[in-house]
Amino acid sequence: MDGISENRKTEETPVLVTRASMPPVEEYEALVRRIFESRWLTNMGEFHEELKAGLKEKLGVRGLELFVNGHTALEMVIQAFGLRGEVITTPFTFASTVHAIVRNGLRPVFCDIREEDGTLDPEKLEALITKDTAAILPVHVYGNICAYEAIDRVAKEHGLKVIYDAAHAFGETICRKTPEGREEKLGVGNLGDASMFSFHATKVFHTIEGGAVTWGNPENDFLEGLLYRLKNFGITGKESVELVGGNGKMNEFCAAMGICNLKYVDGWIAARGRLTERYRGNLAGAKGIRFLSPRQDASSNHAYLPVLLEGGKARRDEVFDSLCAEGIFPRKYFYPCANAYACYREFCDERETPVAKRFSESVLTLPLYPDLSEETVDRICSLLQK
Ligand SMILES: *Cc1c(COP(=O)(O)O)cnc(C)c1O
Repeated sequence: MDGISENRKTEETPVLVTRASMPPVEEYEALVRRIFESRWLTNMGEFHEELKAGLKEKLGVRGLELFVNGHTALEMVIQAFGLRGEVITTPFTFASTVHAIVRNGLRPVFCDIREEDGTLDPEKLEALITKDTAAILPVHVYGNICAYEAIDRVAKEHGLKVIYDAAHAFGETICRKTPEGREEKLGVGNLGDASMFSFHATKVFHTIEGGAVTWGNPENDFLEGLLYRLKNFGITGKESVELVGGNGKMNEFCAAMGICNLKYVDGWIAARGRLTERYRGNLAGAKGIRFLSPRQDASSNHAYLPVLLEGGKARRDEVFDSLCAEGIFPRKYFYPCANAYACYREFCDERETPVAKRFSESVLTLPLYPDLSEETVDRICSLLQK
């Protein structure tokens, strides 16, 4: 069993932008039976601990804490650093990134993105830093790894924390030179001060709902205990509660799904890679369609397949509607930009981030999941070329 052909048996129209990858049902069933026997359903049970260890190894990170979902993980790691004031982030992301900042009582400041890969543009950072800036929260959007060297440099100069939204970057590595000049591969979850991963059903690797915070810097090992307490109501002992935590615990059913999926995720990523190649091959040279160019010194998990369409919003929406009419449902990830949301419009203006605005108005994220058939990819491409 490869976790792909079993899924494909049920391919159907409509073709959605993504589809949850499932392990063989018998494997999940076997673990669920064990949960029924033990009656340990949540609160850091056996599967929680097994998944935590497995993911730590898979992501190659120094530290990792599991959470009920990625959003709560992000809220709680921001809380863990005790930030005050402003956090610089990108408007070209999912709502969660900015909400996590605001729900911590911090003010988001929006930085524009890079033309080549849609990630935060470090050259525009400096101008946004004030005496109130506490941190930078960049996003490895679509799994495209940020310009972390330049971001780090600015952060160090100004004494800022860097927390990555790595929701899209499961399993990715960067290649870099050690001080001795040797090349090494490093899990992206080691970058900055901490990273958040999402294991939502629609992500490359999932636990139904779930997430994690990871870190690589030994100075941040305090996160280990602190995040554990924050996700468990701030409880520090049978009769003591020392901080204002919440409930961020991952339950055993979700952890069990993660344990099953971990065995198959490499195959799923490889299948995504082959389909990505097929899209790129089919659409190479197609007029008015541009692919992004992620950095070449990072591996890719092929989480998404975004294309930028020439001709502005009207043209993009027209292509979107005509694909929908054929039973193909791409998504406008990410439209609108966060700085155009009704809840944030009062204190920001999307015209301040023109590249992000243009991206959001011209992007279409095409269907991509491991068991998508090549025939469907070909059909989508020929529809696009019309
Ligand atoms: C999915 C996602 C999140 C939130 O993760 P959940 O696990 O759904 O809570 C945060 N940021 C980005 C960029 C995401 O795509």
